[in-house]
Amino acid sequence: MILLISDLHLQEERPDITRAFLDLIAGRARDAQALYILGDFFEVWIGDDAMSPFQRSICQALRELSDSGTQIFLMHGNRDFMIGRAFCKAAGCTLLPDPSVVQLNGEPVLLMHGDSLCTRDEGYIRMRRYLRNPLTLFVLRNLPKSTRHKLARKLRNESRSQTRMKANDIVDVTPEEVPEVMQQFGVRTLIHGHTHRPAIHKLQIGDQAARRIVLGDWDKQGWAVQVDEQGFQLGAFDFVPEPQLALPNS
Ligand code: MN
Repeated sequence: MILLISDLHLQEERPDITRAFLDLIAGRARDAQALYILGDFFEVWIGDDAMSPFQRSICQALRELSDSGTQIFLMHGNRDFMIGRAFCKAAGCTLLPDPSVVQLNGEPVLLMHGDSLCTRDEGYIRMRRYLRNPLTLFVLRNLPKSTRHKLARKLRNESRSQTRMKANDIVDVTPEEVPEVMQQFGVRTLIHGHTHRPAIHKLQIGDQAARRIVLGDWDKQGWAVQVDEQGFQLGAFDFVPEPQLALPNS
């Protein structure tokens, strides 16, 4: 069995999401051969050299899962594209390029974060190209941590206020882009996240049936794709409420 998740946006401010993730990796993910994390695993990442105690604890949890025998593959999202080799080594996971084709259930499957499919948002695509440029990354990595914190905050605020103003269809994938990319990689299944619009879209590529599986973000509930002999299943699960301390009756 294989599990795929994305867009957890892990952050100290959301202990409910963190707990749900820790539950997943202590439970269902232990039985998985592999866990794929398709980006925006962390809400923010300014560098492997600037891990907070919270991020360190997540790193350790991944390490324990990987030590237990589950392979972990991690893809960058637009929030955590600064995750580097040091983190992956410590967490025991393999960095997966975006896009990547992997064999799941004997079928080639295209995995992406999904932001590169939102081509109608030209401003964003330009910004993405700039930020992922090796030279930019080099400069960013060598900025003082305080400057990186400030930059990350600025980027997040800008992205939030711009997303609010942009038309709804601009922040979704470009429909024509999907079959094109799938054809280019010779796949009939694409799995991605980013848009926070979980669904299984059936499509037609030439005379072949194809599908685009969109993972949901973890906010009100968690989302995962499970791949096993039953096929590809997209499912949501509720967060288990925090165990309450039993108070003695007064
Ligand atoms: Mn994203």
